[in-house]
Amino acid sequence: MTATVADALEQLGVPTPLQAVAIGGDWQAGSGEPLPTRSPIDGASHGDLALATPAQVEQAIAAASEAFRTWRVTPAPVRGEFVRRYGEQLRRHKADLAALVTAEAGKITTEALGEVQEMIDVCDFAVGLSRQLYGKTIASERPGHRLAEQWLPLGPVGVISAFNFPVAVWAWNAAIAWVCGDPVVWKPSEKTPLTALACQALVAKTLTEMPDVPAGVSSVVIGGADAGQTLAASAHVPLVSATGSTRMGRAVAETVAKRLGRSLLELGGNNGMIVAPTADMELAVRSIVFAAVGTCGQRCTSLRRLIAHESIADTLRDRVLGAYAKLPIGDPRDDGTLVGPLVDEAALAGMQDALAAAREQGGQVHGGERVTDGVPAGGFYVRPAVVEIAADAPIVQQETFAPILYLLRYQDFDQALEIHNGVPQGLASAVLTTDMREAEQFCGPAGSDCGIVNVNTSPSGAEIGGAFGGEKDTGGGRESGSDSWKQYMRRATNTVNYSTDLPLAQGIKFDV
Ligand code: NAD
Repeated sequence: MTATVADALEQLGVPTPLQAVAIGGDWQAGSGEPLPTRSPIDGASHGDLALATPAQVEQAIAAASEAFRTWRVTPAPVRGEFVRRYGEQLRRHKADLAALVTAEAGKITTEALGEVQEMIDVCDFAVGLSRQLYGKTIASERPGHRLAEQWLPLGPVGVISAFNFPVAVWAWNAAIAWVCGDPVVWKPSEKTPLTALACQALVAKTLTEMPDVPAGVSSVVIGGADAGQTLAASAHVPLVSATGSTRMGRAVAETVAKRLGRSLLELGGNNGMIVAPTADMELAVRSIVFAAVGTCGQRCTSLRRLIAHESIADTLRDRVLGAYAKLPIGDPRDDGTLVGPLVDEAALAGMQDALAAAREQGGQVHGGERVTDGVPAGGFYVRPAVVEIAADAPIVQQETFAPILYLLRYQDFDQALEIHNGVPQGLASAVLTTDMREAEQFCGPAGSDCGIVNVNTSPSGAEIGGAFGGEKDTGGGRESGSDSWKQYMRRATNTVNYSTDLPLAQGIKFDV
C-alpha cells in the first residue's frame, strides 16, 4: 500500500487491516475467500482482505430490515438532514476519496475528483428532494370523497456496482434511497473495495453526528457474485439496483423476477455519435476524443461508434488520429496525464481480442498497442485505437470495455440513424450537426433509441439532475435525478370517504 493510500484511508476513518463488512460503524472481517487487491496503476497490492459470505450479506439485510422500521417513520426532511451531513463529509474528504478512486480504478485525478463531486451533487439534489416527495390529489368521481396518492418508503435497497464508477453510482442510489426512507445494503465491485469501505467510513462519521439514525441504514459487504445473488434472491430486499455488464444484469434480473421483486438495471452501452457534414469540426474533435479515451474507454457512456458522413469521414479520422498521437498516456496521478491504465490484464486481453476480430472482419486498425515506455511497470496501458470498419461487422455490435473507436461511414441521415440504432444496447448517443432538422429528428420518436440523447456535445459525462440510464440491453433503469426517486418508493392510492353515504365507483348499485 502506498503512503498516499494509507494516509487517505486513515483520514477517511477506514480501519486497517481491511475488513469486508460494515453495518453502520460496526466493522467485521469477512469469513470467505481471501481477496487480493491490486492497483491498476502499477499492480501494487493495497493489502488483502477476506470476502464476505452470503451469510454475512443476510446479516446486513436483517440489520437493514430492522433499521427500516425506524427510518420509514422518520420525517423525510430529517432523512434529508442525514444526507446533507453526509454531503458535508464528502466535501471535507473529497481529495482523499478521489485519491482512492485513482488508486483503485486508475482514473486520472481530475476525473476522480469529478466523480466525488458527482456524489456531492446528488446529495444536494436529495436534500432538496426530501421536502418534495410529492403525490397527486385526483378528482374523485364520487361525492364526499378524496382521491390521492402518497409515496411511501419501500424497504431495504440492494445496490450492486461496477468498478468503473466505484463511488458515484452507489451515491446516486444511496442518497435518493435514504431520503425516500430506504436503508441500503451495498455490494461493490471486488476490484474496488477500498473506495467502498471509505464511503462507509464516512457514513459511520455521519452516524455519530446523528445518533438517532439506525446503524442499519447503510451497510457494505465486499463479496463476489454470490453476495450479489444473495441480495437479488432476498425477499427482504424489494429493490435491487444493479450496475455492470449486461451478462450480470440478466443473471440479477432473473433472480429478482423469480420472487417478483423490482430491479433497476444500469448495464452495458455501445454508444454512437453521428457527425453530419454541417458539424462544427473543432467541437467534434474535442468531444470525440474526450468521449472515446476518457477513463481509458472504460465508461459505460464511452464513445464506441463514430458514424461520420462520407464527405468528412477522412478529415475527421485524420484529425482524431492527430489528437490521439499527442495524448499523454501514463500514471493517472501525474498532472497532465489524460489516459490512465486499463483496469487489469483481462481488460487488455479483451481489447486485443476485439482488435484481432476487427482485423479479421476487414477492419483497418490505427493504434491499440500496449504502451510500456514512460508508464509505471505492472500496469496495463494502451494507445487508444481507431478502427475503420463496415457498419455491419459483427464486432461493432459488442461493447468492449477499452478505448476502441469504430469509424463507420454514412451517406444520408436516415442511414446514419439506422446504423446508430442497429446495436443491442441503448445507453448514450449524440448527434453533431448545425442542421436543426437533423438535431430534432435525432431527439424525436424516430431518432436515437437511447436513454441519453445529446446534440452538439459528447455522449459521455452526464449531469446528476437528469434521469440516467438506457434502453434495450442497457436494462431500462433510470437513476439519479428527475423523478427517478419514484422507483425507491411504494405508491399508495388513497380513497377517503368523508360523507355519510357509500356511493360505489362506476355507479354500481349493491344495496344490502
Ligand atoms: P461486472 O458485470 O463484471 O460486475 C459488476 C458487479 O456485478 C460487480 O459488483 C460484480 O461482483 C457483480 N456480479 C457479477 N456477476 C454477478 C452475478 N451473477 N450476480 C450478482 N452480481 C454479480 O461489470 P464491471 O466489469 O465491474 O463493469 C463494467 C460494466 O459495467 C460495463 O459493461 C459497463 O458498461 C457497465 N456499467 C454500466 C453503467 C450504467 O450506468 N449503465 C455504469 C457503469 C458501468
